[in-house]
Amino acid sequence: MLMLETFSLSSKMRISVDHEKLRNFSQNHVKFYLKYSSFVFRALRKPFFQKFLHWMLEKEKIEEQAVRAVHIKVLPFRRKNGKGVAGKCDTSRGRIRIYPKTMKFCQVFKQKFGRNTLLVYAGNRARVALIHELLHLKYIEDEKTVRALAKDYFCIFTQKQPAQSSKALCIYTMIFNAKVSGKKALPSSSTEPSIRLKLMKHV
Ligand SMILES: [Zn+2]
Repeated sequence: MLMLETFSLSSKMRISVDHEKLRNFSQNHVKFYLKYSSFVFRALRKPFFQKFLHWMLEKEKIEEQAVRAVHIKVLPFRRKNGKGVAGKCDTSRGRIRIYPKTMKFCQVFKQKFGRNTLLVYAGNRARVALIHELLHLKYIEDEKTVRALAKDYFCIFTQKQPAQSSKALCIYTMIFNAKVSGKKALPSSSTEPSIRLKLMKHV
């Protein structure tokens, strides 16, 4: 029973690409974003994460049927103010979208922290985004509660991974600090949250 329900969320995940928009990107960008989305797709479908989501939905009393589809978008999305978006939830349709970081962001990140950390970061960023958007199905417009709970749940998730705990913890710091610093330190003109250099020592 558990397995069936776990798979039900997993089976609603799709990589979704807007072919019209894709034409505006160079071949390099397209290649990069396709790779990114398939990596995120695999990260989100990992059984240990699916199991965790199942547990979280049950705890929050959110029906798994409330989720109709999870689209892993190939191309990034920016708000009009230039800020990047990690995810969106259409609560009336039960449709969730998860967006990637930009190629530019990833290049800078890779230079600073290395490829492996980038992969861990990208996978966990998508996981946090999915946790966040799933919570919106219940706390529809209560952004404050969703943010606080997403943080708590991701923290629980990282603690459930003994082998990776130290790395996951630094990623936790990275993801949430990057968000906070992006909000506080950077006005609307900036497109990506800054990764503070002090995080280097955690890596
Ligand atoms: Zn939100």
